[in-house]
Amino acid sequence: MPSLENTDIKYLHGVGPKRAELLGKELGIFTFHDLLYYFPFRYVDRSKIHTVSEITGDMPYIQLRGRFINFTPQGEGARRRLQALFTDGTGTVEVVWFNRVRSIQETYRTGVEYVIFGKPSPFQNHYSIIHPEVDVFKPDAEPQGLRGVYSLTEKLQNRSVSQRTLQRLVATLLQSEAVQRVPETLPRQLMTRWKLMPLNEALVAIHVPADVPTLQRAQFRLKFEELFFLELNILKYIKGRTAQLPGLMLAHVGDYFNNFYHHVLSFPLTDAQKRVIREIRHDMASGRQMNRLLQGDVGSGKTIVALMSALIAVDNGYQACIMAPTEILATQHYESIAPMAARIGLSVALLTGSTRKRERDDIHQRLTAGTLHILIGTHALIEDTVHFRNLGLAIIDEQHRFGVAQRAKLWRKNHTPPHVLVMTATPIPRTLAMTVYGDLDVSVIDQLPPGRKPVTTLMRYEKDREQMYRFVGSEIKKGRQVYIVYPLIEESEKLDLRALEDGYHTVSEIFRQYRVAYVHGRMKPAEKDYQMQLFVTRQAQILVATTVIEVGVNVPNASVMVIENAERFGLSQLHQLRGRVGRGADQSYCILMTKYQIASETRHRLEVMVRTTDGFEVAEEDLRQRGPGDMEGTQQSGIPFTLRIANLAQDGQIVQMARDAAQEILAADPQLTTDEGRRLDAHLHRLFDKNVDWSQIS
Ligand code: ADP
Ligand code: MG
Repeated sequence: MPSLENTDIKYLHGVGPKRAELLGKELGIFTFHDLLYYFPFRYVDRSKIHTVSEITGDMPYIQLRGRFINFTPQGEGARRRLQALFTDGTGTVEVVWFNRVRSIQETYRTGVEYVIFGKPSPFQNHYSIIHPEVDVFKPDAEPQGLRGVYSLTEKLQNRSVSQRTLQRLVATLLQSEAVQRVPETLPRQLMTRWKLMPLNEALVAIHVPADVPTLQRAQFRLKFEELFFLELNILKYIKGRTAQLPGLMLAHVGDYFNNFYHHVLSFPLTDAQKRVIREIRHDMASGRQMNRLLQGDVGSGKTIVALMSALIAVDNGYQACIMAPTEILATQHYESIAPMAARIGLSVALLTGSTRKRERDDIHQRLTAGTLHILIGTHALIEDTVHFRNLGLAIIDEQHRFGVAQRAKLWRKNHTPPHVLVMTATPIPRTLAMTVYGDLDVSVIDQLPPGRKPVTTLMRYEKDREQMYRFVGSEIKKGRQVYIVYPLIEESEKLDLRALEDGYHTVSEIFRQYRVAYVHGRMKPAEKDYQMQLFVTRQAQILVATTVIEVGVNVPNASVMVIENAERFGLSQLHQLRGRVGRGADQSYCILMTKYQIASETRHRLEVMVRTTDGFEVAEEDLRQRGPGDMEGTQQSGIPFTLRIANLAQDGQIVQMARDAAQEILAADPQLTTDEGRRLDAHLHRLFDKNVDWSQIS
């Protein structure tokens, strides 16, 4: 019997080859199964009719009942559209169609009472609804209950696949016997224990719910299932890994570590740093491979922790490496570590794309001989030509810049895989970390070194620009330095570069008596380094830059960060940028420059920055606003599939339940070998086998 998975969508009544192609291309719906799992992203209560006078700014899809007053065709050719005025006696809205203008004009009449359904949006000083659904009003028609709204592309709508078309197709599908016979995927014990709706019922209810409680039960069931299999997969893998992978036993704490701690370290470690170092020491001595994620807000002092972990490896006769995402950052690590290393007789080298051949050969030679203890660098570290004598610890800084495959490469640099420490300053909320990094242990530095003053963040508009420059001037007079950052994104690269250049000229003009450095990612590395050095060595007071400075740059004397077009940056990026100041003892400032008119969502995002300097709070908010798919770090972090219905930001509780459930199953049946276990395992394979072997990754 053909299954839902392998029945081509073109065979569904009402589809056919042309629509099938469209559905595949636009929505990724190729089979019956794909359509069944194409869930509405929102629901509309079709029993409620609003009035025009009730319409406010941010309304979802609503129904209005009334009459068209007139129809007015506008424009020519491709710009042709049909405009109509619609009234229900409490006011008027404008209705606009861009497609099928002629047929619409022939179908709808003035004077007839209709129910229209669409999303009003404010336009100039009235509301307009684009492409509503229109039905003749029938007084005795049954009020419709909840109705699913699907996400559609413009192209589909242009080719007359509307909400209603999709609803009809789904209705047809739901009547088929195959759907009614969809086998249950979850074990009976879980169904009972968590009072879950059976799968076949839930699949119907998610599309056409009878009422709100039924919808909620269906959503819960489907989210639970999705998260359960995700957690089961992760937990099964962790068990496999700990059983499988022995690690280097680096239990000795010796002279390098102790000398450094007692004679070189110029400040007391924070309690958080001490705790994290203890956790790392414990891992490295356990005889199992360490896979640890170290989270710490910008400026929390991760570098020292990295170095001290590396010293443990060296004390045990092994080498360590520290990999950073950019040349500037690698160089900065090297420059801060090298002088300390020299004092304890440790040999350290820097390897980047611009390391000269002679030096590179020398590094290779010392590396294989084992006389080089710590290698710091960029991607250059993972090239095939780089061979360690015995790599004991690989540290990866600012992990979100590295792809999955690159990390895996590092991993294979040794016969026994080295311990892996991944450091990130992009804090990841707990529910997300639990799932995305389910196979990593997590350490958190949740404390800043003493004496730091929280950065004051301000929102300023174009009209405040002069005042902003005056403020910048007064800070420079006090001997401080200032960053001015511009957005630069690929899609608008040319325009952005122009804005950056213009900004640079303006600033150079206004601050003629000072030196202004200038950096962007399109510069040659040598030029970039030269400009950066001007700023780092205080020869330049102002650095005009793009986000190349986002990660890692450490200039404690800089006290002001001006972010131009702040509305174009994401929250975590803003937080990273802000982290470049507030590194010294002075009060620091972050000034978010924006256009006067920005969307309320954007304003909300910027207000989060003003309200808090806590990176975890920023990350939680980011997750809430954007969803995990867009969060920096999640794309490459190996989350194995896109979640269809569960939302890691909002469904933290269900994540926890699903994890508990998965844990219970594995406790009773660790290898998934019972009948039930084998069914679950088979389902896991069906879900995850398409994906890369993400579990191999640190
Ligand atoms: P990040 O976590 O952002 O990588 P860094 O490691 O660059 O932070 O540390 C930021 C600054 O704080 C550095 O100048 C570092 O020397 C300093 N620092 C780190 N730990 C402490 C501490 N315990 N006390 C005082 N200063 C510290
Ligand atoms: Mg750092």
